Amino acid sequence: MTIPTSVIKKIEKIIGRQHLCRDKEDLLCYAFDATKTVSVPDAVVFPGNAQEVSEILKLANQHGFSVTPRGAGSGMTGGSVPVRQGVVLAMSRFNNILSIDRDNLIARVEPGVVTGVFQKAVDKEGLFYPPDPSSSDFSTLGGNAAECAGGPKAVKYGVTRDYVLGMTVVLPTGEIIRTGVQTAKGVVGYDLTRLIVGSEGTLGVITELTLRLRPKPEAVRTMTAVYNRIGAAAETVSEIIRRGIIPRTIEFMDNASIRCAEAYAKSGLPTDAEALLIIEVDGGIDETARALKTIESVCRGFDVRSIMVAETPEAAQAVWKARKSVSPALYRYGPDKINEDIVVPRSRIPDMVSKIQDLSRQTGLMMVCFGHAGDGNIHFNIMADKKDTAQWEKALNAVGEIFDYTLALGGTLSGEHGIGMTKSAYIGREITPEALALMRRIKNAFDPKGILNPGKIFAND
Ligand SMILES: Cc1cc2nc3c(=O)[nH]c(=O)nc-3n(C[C@H](O)[C@H](O)[C@H](O)COP(=O)(O)OP(=O)(O)OC[C@H]3O[C@@H](n4cnc5c(N)ncnc54)[C@H](O)[C@@H]3O)c2cc1C
Repeated sequence: MTIPTSVIKKIEKIIGRQHLCRDKEDLLCYAFDATKTVSVPDAVVFPGNAQEVSEILKLANQHGFSVTPRGAGSGMTGGSVPVRQGVVLAMSRFNNILSIDRDNLIARVEPGVVTGVFQKAVDKEGLFYPPDPSSSDFSTLGGNAAECAGGPKAVKYGVTRDYVLGMTVVLPTGEIIRTGVQTAKGVVGYDLTRLIVGSEGTLGVITELTLRLRPKPEAVRTMTAVYNRIGAAAETVSEIIRRGIIPRTIEFMDNASIRCAEAYAKSGLPTDAEALLIIEVDGGIDETARALKTIESVCRGFDVRSIMVAETPEAAQAVWKARKSVSPALYRYGPDKINEDIVVPRSRIPDMVSKIQDLSRQTGLMMVCFGHAGDGNIHFNIMADKKDTAQWEKALNAVGEIFDYTLALGGTLSGEHGIGMTKSAYIGREITPEALALMRRIKNAFDPKGILNPGKIFAND
């Protein structure tokens, strides 16, 4: 549906003409996310406060147009793609860090603040905000909360959900509510904060967040362990945890991702290795030194080929630069990418990786695995050409097969990227019809006219 000019005029009146775009080039910039799925909205608006968001949503209910909230558009499942056109609600003007409270270890922020900017600001105060999606240089705290973003440090510190204490949310019907608390704990009423975190912008628009902080650890040590056998890397991960050490990251890269990262970042990674682990520990100086020693001995017990300990922060940064380059660098292997983020029990990683390698051989498609081994979260990427319909169908069939295997291993279809539009056809494989029906009733209670981010999570909506 194209929004009539008379309604556009009403939107302009709410937010001011300068905060609305309708030029084709501008609209295109807000038509896609990291999935490269494109759907061009009728308008993009840049509200400046919760009241303006509320008035736009009320207007949407009145006139039946869709509203799609958007942070940085770095989502991996099409969450911010305006599939039913309508209005994109770009949250970039909500970019203030409102307070950092050292006494109570909390911060109040607006959702458009870039995660990495916030991390640096709290670091300056001697504090630490652990959720760190690899997209932290550009993704926003609002997008992180809406997707319940994870990242490498989730193995020790948990995901975004564990850090959101409370929020201001504009409901799809326009009411402005406060959820949760501004204190370390609280159990008054239903936990709306936990319901809305991870709801992918379908239950409300977040306009403020109260976040939990932690003291900054005294020391951080980073090491890289290189393996000739993928199974040995996976066994190392299980044994480290069995020994009672929870590193703050245990990242895994297979041979294809090592080659890809090396071609892109040129940081000296061994391109003939079958697997690589990036293990980082934090805590007190003595504690981290002890942990590192134990981890080194575990690695040696599992046929490690070489171990490199980063001796300077710059050396550690180079390792992370290589790891973070994998996802964007994959496009050298093909014009299109299917990126999934299944989770399996940590001990089943070798089974899953060999399943993916078998499928790669059978289909002749390039499949690359990397991710957060510490919590069993594997990002498998299938490189293919969407224009080649036979090839694309083969890739989609492989996804279905990997999803079934994931569930058979006791895993889940998404650890941190959500369902969005790309995975909505598969949600029924994991969630029972009864639970799905309840989820739909919840969506309906929040958004009876279905105007907020339609076409996401539930297939065929
Ligand atoms: C190279 C790369 C690496 C990545 N690495 C990781 C990773 O390690 N871990 C991880 O979890 N993810 C990762 N991601 C995925 C992505 O960055 C995250 O999902 C991130 O949280 C999205 O934030 P965003 O600001 O870009 O949100 P967008 O993509 O703009 O939106 C994501 C969802 O949030 C909703 N939304 C945005 N703002 C609001 C708001 N204020 N109120 C309500 N809903 C809102 C949107 O409607 C949409 O459904 C990666 C992506 C890329 C491109």
